[in-house]
Amino acid sequence: MDIRVGQGFDVHRLVEGRQFFLGGLCLPFEKGLLGHSDADVLIHAICDALLGAAGLRDIGYHFPDNDPQYAGIDSKILLQRTTALLKERGWRVGNIDATVCAERPKLNPFIPQMQDTLAPLMEVAPEQVSIKATTTEKLGFTGREEGIAALAVALIEKI
Ligand code: MG
Repeated sequence: MDIRVGQGFDVHRLVEGRQFFLGGLCLPFEKGLLGHSDADVLIHAICDALLGAAGLRDIGYHFPDNDPQYAGIDSKILLQRTTALLKERGWRVGNIDATVCAERPKLNPFIPQMQDTLAPLMEVAPEQVSIKATTTEKLGFTGREEGIAALAVALIEKI
């Protein structure tokens, strides 16, 4: 069986006056993530893990953050397009394991809905998309609520 793994990492700054998009959902929070797109840091880490596994560079290479066509774009579209890029080259998604580092808000209640939202975009079942949340014990930029970080590992299989 031809399989590959990839890893992804992303950070976005938390600011006032932006809606908070994470894991394909718009969640209630007093701040939002800053970025050219909707700044969904979890989806971006997953895209980078998938692209990395397939040896296809990174999300910024395919969807540049200075390209007006991606301004404010729903990152779910980027995940769908990433999956399509892999599919064109004969890869399908095996599984994803991701971790979000955020002091607040509490993400655990939303994880099943994130899995249900992201899995179809990658043409897999929700149980193939593991999403975990952790704080960093109030340490560092995530602990100070200046930003949110996400890490992801992806396994892909040759169709
Ligand atoms: Mg990003």
